[in-house]
Amino acid sequence: MTRATTAPDLLLEAEGLAKHYRARDGRGVVKAVDGVSLTLRAGEVLGIVGESGCGKSTLARLLLRLIEPTAGTIRFAGEDLMGLGAAQLRARRRDMQMVFQDPYASLDPRMTVAEIIAEPLDIHAIGTRKDRLAKVETLLDMVGLGAKAAHLYPHEFSGGQRQRIGIARAIALEPKLVILDEPVSALDVSIQAQILNLLAELKARLKLSYIFISHDLSVVEHISDRVVVMYLGRVVETAPVADLFASPKHPYTEALMSAVPGLGAKQSLARIVLKGDPPNPEQPPPGCPFHPRCRHALERCATVLPILGDPAASRSPHAVACHLHGASRQLSAAT
Ligand code: SF4
Repeated sequence: MTRATTAPDLLLEAEGLAKHYRARDGRGVVKAVDGVSLTLRAGEVLGIVGESGCGKSTLARLLLRLIEPTAGTIRFAGEDLMGLGAAQLRARRRDMQMVFQDPYASLDPRMTVAEIIAEPLDIHAIGTRKDRLAKVETLLDMVGLGAKAAHLYPHEFSGGQRQRIGIARAIALEPKLVILDEPVSALDVSIQAQILNLLAELKARLKLSYIFISHDLSVVEHISDRVVVMYLGRVVETAPVADLFASPKHPYTEALMSAVPGLGAKQSLARIVLKGDPPNPEQPPPGCPFHPRCRHALERCATVLPILGDPAASRSPHAVACHLHGASRQLSAAT
């Protein structure tokens, strides 16, 4: 089933996306992702940021339907992904690729680099064997490794080089969208910068769109056009990157920024030390899930869940799920 998207440049649109699991004790439900809506325009980089366990990696897999959502819809280039059968979905995945955090774990150590990069081309039966080898050599040049790397094995490369191999594999099918899940988190800072530069270069050259997932705000600021901040499976703030970093509104975003040297100073934010650890997702707090750690918590925060303001309705691209701000304040006042 297909349906036209409202905006012609909208590449990806997710609405009310959820992934719930049965809790380990078999009684409760863990809401790993709970009611996430987002959009990605063609050519855009959407950063998704939050602490470990906030649901961002689960969200990445949901968006590609690598795992099945409990609820929600996903449209890619106007097509309803939830309506596709296995074969149609496999064909559609040519346009949607993923790069993982740990380049070593995601590359089969028994395969040569050429075999790893050519595998998606083999699966989709693209070109002859000779064509595929030529394509591998071109891709290796594009990611800065050179054709000589083709006959080596992953263990013969450094972490940064292995991530270049992962990126070459992800772009082999000339996708429209690449989801990058913590692609530089395992790398040294100097190597991170090289990989970020490579990603920016490939995006411009191949007209790619990225969803860039990271716990590192400074990396997200560097590469993103817009940012989504997640906490305990929900979006708590979303804004264009310049707005978010100039004027964070959600107390959780403020705390994250205040902890990054340079970023906090830019906002004149004194270091905000969050109370306690993120809550156990098997037993989330009632009301605003952030309230046990929030220094601004109001009485109603313990009972009323703040709703993310609708950027389309408010005409502001900066939306926040907090009773201190905008639509959330009005909604809670009306309850
Ligand atoms: Fe803090 Fe209340 Fe806003 Fe949640 S809704 S972030 S507890 S002020």
